Amino acid sequence: IIEVSDVHKSFGAVEVLKGVSMNVRKGDVICIIGPSGSGKSTLLRCINALVPINQGSIKVEGQEVNNPRLDKLALRRKVGMVFQQYNLFPHRTALQNVMMAPTIVLKQNRKEVEERAYRLLKKVRLEGKELQYPGELSGGQQQRVAIARSLAMSPDVMLFDEVTAALDPETVKEVLVTIRQLAEEGMTCLLVTHEMGFAREIADHMYFTDRGIIVEDGPPKEFFANPRDPRTKEFLSQIL
Ligand code: ATP
Ligand code: MG
Repeated sequence: IIEVSDVHKSFGAVEVLKGVSMNVRKGDVICIIGPSGSGKSTLLRCINALVPINQGSIKVEGQEVNNPRLDKLALRRKVGMVFQQYNLFPHRTALQNVMMAPTIVLKQNRKEVEERAYRLLKKVRLEGKELQYPGELSGGQQQRVAIARSLAMSPDVMLFDEVTAALDPETVKEVLVTIRQLAEEGMTCLLVTHEMGFAREIADHMYFTDRGIIVEDGPPKEFFANPRDPRTKEFLSQIL
């Protein structure tokens, strides 16, 4: 569903991605880990066409993303993205936040969108919080509104960029439960995370990035038990 081939990306003189390749099949749960600055967020942003690439190719459902004539709106309907900063509209309720894109961007029927928004908020376990404003919700609850908001576009793939990194430890778990539920339902997920226990449990495949390259990848069991590359070993020993 996603084919990343030899992607290079520079910001000015600094090459941040130095030939990254990755294949994601439908229903896969892929976890990407690696040190700060190794290019993890940049890779997700390239997949979603938030930043253009300099070289290589990224295909989503067979369509080249790195094409100036690409319909970015259509791409972002297929590829949902959730960030560390949830960026909800503060003066809109949880429900309105979830309804906004389908009603305004896709001009879908308001009644149907509203029904779906209630269902999605229930799915992320926020039943009863629909009419609350972001400021009245915990960080974990706001992040789950952000996930529901992405799901409202009915994406085929979800990208999660350290979505629990800014949360209090108590609220991390409820967000991870939501992501696990999505994964179990067969949603294709690409996650950048520092939650190693979660990654080991949920991932079909692990990637370790360092300084713009993929140093190592493999199934989580082997990856965590027997990392081959010294950089992976060192990173895991610092974190676990
Ligand atoms: P972290 O774990 O801290 O989130 P990361 O692996 O996600 O790190 P990126 O955010 O992809 O790393 O950043 C990789 C490098 O690219 C960094 O050195 C960063 O400063 C640089 N970079 C990212 N975005 C931009 C930008 N828009 N303009 C210039 N440099 C950028
Ligand atoms: Mg990042």
